[in-house]
Amino acid sequence: MSEPYSGGCACGAIRYETSSEPVVETHCQCRDCQRRSGTGHASYLVFAPRADVRITGATTTWRVAGDSGNEKIHAFCPTCGTPVSLAFSAMPDLIAIHAASLDDPSRFKPRAVTYNARAYAWDPMDPGLQVFPTMPPG
Ligand SMILES: [Zn+2]
Ligand SMILES: [Zn+2]
Repeated sequence: MSEPYSGGCACGAIRYETSSEPVVETHCQCRDCQRRSGTGHASYLVFAPRADVRITGATTTWRVAGDSGNEKIHAFCPTCGTPVSLAFSAMPDLIAIHAASLDDPSRFKPRAVTYNARAYAWDPMDPGLQVFPTMPPG
């Protein structure tokens, strides 16, 4: 067992912690992640079950259909606007945490890139990662 993963938003009003290990660590280059991050991709650690990630502080949520057509539920700090977590209506047991919101972002170990078909030339990815043009099948 490693140290719990912990982190929060930029102003400190929202905090989270989990003793679970991430099931997936990925960069996503879909248009929604680009718009919300303000750059070429967003980076996530995905945990399951969702209840293992304890979030303190009141987040504001925003629901949107992703490139896949499935609804995503974004949770962010209403004070500083930092995106904290992301959940998926079609996969309610998962929760994704934004990598740079970790107290120690160096713990993020990406393995894959999703929605590479949406990538821009100015946002190149590590060629050692497994690349998916959209979402991985299954
Ligand atoms: Zn905040
Ligand atoms: Zn995305």
